[in-house]
Amino acid sequence: MHVWKFGGTSVGKPERMQSIRHLITEDSTPKIVVLSALSGTTNALLAIGESLKANNDTDANLKIDTLKAHYDSFIGELYKTADGKAAGQKIVDNEFAFIRSLTRIKPFTLKQEKELVAEGELLSTQMFQAYLEEEKVASTLLPALEFMRIDADNEPEIGFTEQALAEMLPQHADKQIIVTQGFICRNPRGEVDNLKRGGSDYTASLIGGAIRAEEIQIWTDIDGMHNNDPRIVKNTFPVRELTFDEAAELAYFGAKILHPSTITPARMFGVPVRLKNTMDPSAPGTLIADRTSDQVFKAIAAKDGITALYIHSTRMLNAYGFLRRIFEIFEKYKTPVDMIATSEVSVSVTIDNTERIEEIKAELGAFCTLEEPDYDQTIICIVGNFSADNQGVAVRVFNALKNIPIRMISYGGTESNLSLLIHGQYKADALNALNDGLFSA
Ligand code: ADP
Ligand code: ASP
Ligand code: MG
Repeated sequence: MHVWKFGGTSVGKPERMQSIRHLITEDSTPKIVVLSALSGTTNALLAIGESLKANNDTDANLKIDTLKAHYDSFIGELYKTADGKAAGQKIVDNEFAFIRSLTRIKPFTLKQEKELVAEGELLSTQMFQAYLEEEKVASTLLPALEFMRIDADNEPEIGFTEQALAEMLPQHADKQIIVTQGFICRNPRGEVDNLKRGGSDYTASLIGGAIRAEEIQIWTDIDGMHNNDPRIVKNTFPVRELTFDEAAELAYFGAKILHPSTITPARMFGVPVRLKNTMDPSAPGTLIADRTSDQVFKAIAAKDGITALYIHSTRMLNAYGFLRRIFEIFEKYKTPVDMIATSEVSVSVTIDNTERIEEIKAELGAFCTLEEPDYDQTIICIVGNFSADNQGVAVRVFNALKNIPIRMISYGGTESNLSLLIHGQYKADALNALNDGLFSA
């Protein structure tokens, strides 16, 4: 079985939904089709939530009217038959009645916000399933809320998904296509929750891992993972092959084409991930698997909103146990550390989640001296084949960046990654300089 995920732009127009109906049926492999919300919908739902949090019901209702009008016209174009249009209208009317009902719950809490934002995927999948029924495609809709669950640390419970799908899928063995929602799940309290922005990719790979799929395909609006961020750099190009490790680094360090955690379940179960372009299905895209090519520099990504903490030992750093004491504090406050640099008496670390920073600083302050943190930093992650015998990797990177102030460097953590910390204001310059220095002939 395959798992194919279509992102917001891939389902964002009636003609796109019609074309993915052909894509999924032209290929005869049975598949689970994971859909995102129509492009713009998740943002629109969050904006409605913001109005409700601010107690501005008039504003919320106006935003709901605008979104509903968009869906009314969408179904007018998607379905061809009167029955199809009626089925589509019923879905839209039902879901918008639920959205309206949320506006009446006071106060509007995080629980309601999560129910509201889940509506995007609930709408897109029901509308698509009704379209497949109109087209007489043998398919069924499997509710993700019945098999996707996160634990108290917001980590997906893949074992639960594996078990639930092992029970559910055999009941639909006669169906070539199983449609389900990306992004949404339940939390340990049984409430509706989600896998964070862009989470449909993660849903697809969790399902792919859970069912040991033959392949996971992520269909989006670009022809695979590019060598650099195409939103910032001109003349980027698709990278044809990446290893799981390389792709995981790029996704984690900011390549928006993949949710940061997408590769983890695929790598765990050895399921290849193929990135494909819905607008150009014949383009080869990118294959993420176990193999590697000899190419030295493969791709660059950047992650914004990073905070650097500078920690000085009041004694000697190499007193054993010192690093453990530092990292236990980050563990206690569930704050992942991305980059580390050490000197004899100091440790610098970066974090991207600053929710618990004050508590972390207070505890570190008991046995260290701290400098003021630097906010608005960016990690630049360069991925490639940097095995120990490859000479000249660092010199090419530093030559390219000779005009950019660098705050931290991490090299040697794996053979596939070199990361640098710079102030966010230099991000575009750094990405462009690296593109010129590492990828132009
Ligand atoms: P979807 O809605 O299908 O999930 P996303 O917008 O989340 O699509 O991801 C696709 C977008 O990611 C592309 O349109 C592109 O602008 C952006 N992107 C950022 N970095 C990269 C990269 N290295 N390679 C390809 N796309 C990238
Ligand atoms: N619809 C969700 C979002 O916009 C999830 C996704 O598209 O992957 O973040
Ligand atoms: Mg996405």
